[in-house]
Amino acid sequence: MQETRPLVLVTNDDGVDSDGLEALAAAAGAFGEVWVVAPSSEQSGVGHGITLHRPLKVEQCSGRTYCVNGTPSDCVWLAIRSLLPRKPRLVLSGINRGANLGEDVTYSGTVAGAMEGALRGVPSVAFSLVGRDAFDFSWTKDWVCKVIEGMEALQDEGDLLLSVNLPPFGNGWIRGIQVTRMARGLCRVDGHVITTTDPEGNKIYSFAKKDILSDLEPGTDVYAVMSGYVSVTPLVLDWTRYSISGALEQAYALNAHNPKQSAVVREAL
Ligand code: MN
Repeated sequence: MQETRPLVLVTNDDGVDSDGLEALAAAAGAFGEVWVVAPSSEQSGVGHGITLHRPLKVEQCSGRTYCVNGTPSDCVWLAIRSLLPRKPRLVLSGINRGANLGEDVTYSGTVAGAMEGALRGVPSVAFSLVGRDAFDFSWTKDWVCKVIEGMEALQDEGDLLLSVNLPPFGNGWIRGIQVTRMARGLCRVDGHVITTTDPEGNKIYSFAKKDILSDLEPGTDVYAVMSGYVSVTPLVLDWTRYSISGALEQAYALNAHNPKQSAVVREAL
């Protein structure tokens, strides 16, 4: 009987032509047959958006590389449900040109691509390389592989979703891998809105960018990359805040017995 090779799906949010995607696809080859399904244009900052109001087009760029005129989530959804011959063993997203640290994770198309994989039941990892303009992906392979190998030891856990940030310098400088938590605070944009005027005299707005970073609490993703470590943050799919569910339930129970409110409800009936 012919053995079927496991499939690895690779996507990103910087677009199918990104050198970070190429680097990740090359590393992914160690884990199975690589399929690339990525957005045809840059989708950074789109978060977990999906395209509902227009049909999507898929173009086969070469062999097992496809591009989609949609978001990273569209790509992963289409790949798993339609394009790939069978369910992949892994979904990898990135390597993003720039960090996805702290609250920036919630806007990230890179992380959302991996989140879509995890929601479809496939262990998934998002990779981002910290930096601004010049990105050197040539050294990243060993660390990408180490992170994936580590995660594979947890296969039985289910809902595996990791956000990984690589420091902006190469092999020989990196001190190791640190498992971290998301820092609070924004990393690549600060709180300011820049207001200017366009040539027609209309007010236009943009978000001010900032450099990493103010949050230097030990244990956070930001602290780890600033200290020379590869940051690995395990993320959850279930956003429920169980720790306050009981207290909230109690508060509503008390509310329900408020006679004044009950009277209002009775009257409304
Ligand atoms: Mn990006």
